[in-house]
Amino acid sequence: MSNGTPVGVSNGSTHIKGNGIPRELDALRLEAVHRDDHLKLGSGSARIGELPPREVIVEATATLLTRLAALQEAFHADGRHALLLVLQGRDASGKDGVIKTVYGAFNPTGVQVAAFGPPTPLELKHDFLWRVHQVVPSLGMIGVFNRSHYEDVLAVRVRNLAPESVWRPRFAQINAFERSLAENGVIIRKCMLHVSREEQYVRLKERLDDPRKNWKFRLEDLKDRARWDEYTDAYREMLSECSTREAPWFVVPADDKVLRNFLIARMLVDTLESVDPQFPAMDAAVREAARGFT
Ligand code: AMP
Ligand code: MG
Repeated sequence: MSNGTPVGVSNGSTHIKGNGIPRELDALRLEAVHRDDHLKLGSGSARIGELPPREVIVEATATLLTRLAALQEAFHADGRHALLLVLQGRDASGKDGVIKTVYGAFNPTGVQVAAFGPPTPLELKHDFLWRVHQVVPSLGMIGVFNRSHYEDVLAVRVRNLAPESVWRPRFAQINAFERSLAENGVIIRKCMLHVSREEQYVRLKERLDDPRKNWKFRLEDLKDRARWDEYTDAYREMLSECSTREAPWFVVPADDKVLRNFLIARMLVDTLESVDPQFPAMDAAVREAARGFT
């Protein structure tokens, strides 16, 4: 990793297969968090200093999104796996934008989107993974979580909604849960959209000033912004405790929306290509019966 490259973004030179991704973008690829990375999550790593021209990244993203659509078709038909992308990030970090742009590439028939708000009274009577397990994508489906069970070690921790004796054991519970999903065919990838304090200010201000965005603003958003450093600590520990081989975390520099979409689309293409989904062969009985098809 060269100086100036944010932690978690490689400058390796591997290629996407048959790709149409220009060489100058080789360096831009997410790398999984390792337990002992000791990420700082400072403002500097929410952006990348010197980027290739914008049009190059926009065009490459379009190529990746087309590739995603083709991969999804085979993935859906193949049906041996599910894919789950977990999106976490502070308010206005771009979770909705990723779903709109990157997931917008997919055929909606094969997509499951789930968003997690404060638990209902019924959900609070169950263990914290109860509501999550129900919306894990089924085989053949590509799912995305807008927030997730990680709120139970983030918001719950920072807002003091449960004591440490309750939230701390959840790191191990989450790892066991995700391992079990992975062993049952669910491919899990997790992205923390890392936005700087300055960029969050700009985006929240826009929500305050633009009547079409007012509805997105909650009182809790202001309170959470005031607890910036506590959230940073909670995110750091979450990343180091819960980035596993079966379900790795990626930190996405998210101040720049164009770059953010490119990085996530690329990671998803890499993930789906590694599964190498195949269209199932025609059933022998159908083939036989189809002999006389006129
Ligand atoms: P939004 O993503 O803007 O719709 O906001 C959802 C809100 O629900 C955020 O403030 C989250 O912190 C909150 N939330 C989600 N899950 C939980 C949870 N398990 N416990 C407490 N708050 C949560
Ligand atoms: Mg919000």
